[in-house]
Amino acid sequence: MTTLPVLSPRPDPSGPRRAAMPPRHLADLDLAGRQDLVRELGEPAFRARQISTHYFGRLVRDPGAMTDLPAASRDRLAGALLPRLLTPVRELACDDGATRKALWRLHDGSLVESVLMGYPDRVTVCISSQAGCGMACPFCATGQAGLTRNLSTAEILDQAVYLAGVAASGAVAGAPARLSHVVFMGMGEPLANYARVVAAVRRLCAPAPEGLGLSQRHITVSTVGLVPAMRRLAEEDLSVTLALSLHAPDDELRDELVPVNQRWKVAEVLDAAWNYADRTGRRISIEYAMIRDVNDQPWRADLLGRLLAGRLAHVNLIPLNPTPGSRWDASPKPVEREFVRRLRAAGVSTTVRDTRGQEIDGACGQLAAAEVPA
Ligand code: SAH
Repeated sequence: MTTLPVLSPRPDPSGPRRAAMPPRHLADLDLAGRQDLVRELGEPAFRARQISTHYFGRLVRDPGAMTDLPAASRDRLAGALLPRLLTPVRELACDDGATRKALWRLHDGSLVESVLMGYPDRVTVCISSQAGCGMACPFCATGQAGLTRNLSTAEILDQAVYLAGVAASGAVAGAPARLSHVVFMGMGEPLANYARVVAAVRRLCAPAPEGLGLSQRHITVSTVGLVPAMRRLAEEDLSVTLALSLHAPDDELRDELVPVNQRWKVAEVLDAAWNYADRTGRRISIEYAMIRDVNDQPWRADLLGRLLAGRLAHVNLIPLNPTPGSRWDASPKPVEREFVRRLRAAGVSTTVRDTRGQEIDGACGQLAAAEVPA
């Protein structure tokens, strides 16, 4: 295995290129902020609620379809509140239409992806929080390209609103029509774009027309383990699920698989996770990609079991989705089964994640936003 350079997990203090941030959108603001803006435009404040009801309540994103707005005001209001943030580049479906991936171009040309997954009892969308990612995990496709920039709160939310509209159209056969779950497991490190992600979570959960009205318990924020941000999130009074991408129970291997471990070690990151569980009462989801002959040895299962036994934690094993050019592969099924067996024997609740979206490169770690010719 190669040794990775020590990278600074701190975002650039000057911030990502601010000039590249998109125009403001109603989803960046709470309802009061939208009303202020509408008043500044010389329109009655109730228009803010009217447009918000279209967007969050009816999932209508096209101002042209908001026919109850007077034509004279519509363009002005749309220009100020509904600039187009995401331009669809392509949409792909697989798993008999139950999984759909959307590739978007942002206003500055950056590409991001989102995935919709329908199940008999729920509809989940997996959304991106950054264009690219700066965390450099060597097994993850997004990590290979580096960070372009943070997404705005509205760019994050618009992915969910768009895909909620796809679900509402009945396009996902055999699944409910209503979006119920959101996971921040697309491109990017959500806790490196902290304020915008937390604002997006609040708006996902605010009742319509302020937001989408989802349950906080149905939102999952996944992190490589940015310890100060995990501690801050624990104080936000949100009951969202925190997923921790652990991938190795020992520092030697985790330093390589999740390079941010060079700054915050396994013991520290687990401490921050248990603090989150204590403060919120929410079970921590421990993500562990099963990589053949790298992190799947029985002794690592036993060590992981000892670290997690008696804690409010659940292990989610993810068969590695090999990324282009990677020398790594998923663990063989018997090895995976033995890993599960040892964790359960240690008293740790463990499941293996389904691998939706593989053939459309929409599975975990495959989101690279490469624009493949049709
Ligand atoms: N940056 C965040 C969220 C994005 S990735 C995080 O790392 O948690 C969502 C999950 O997919 C993470 O657990 C990540 O480690 C995992 N993942 C990334 N690449 C993968 C791959 N090639 N195969 C399986 N899981 C992968």
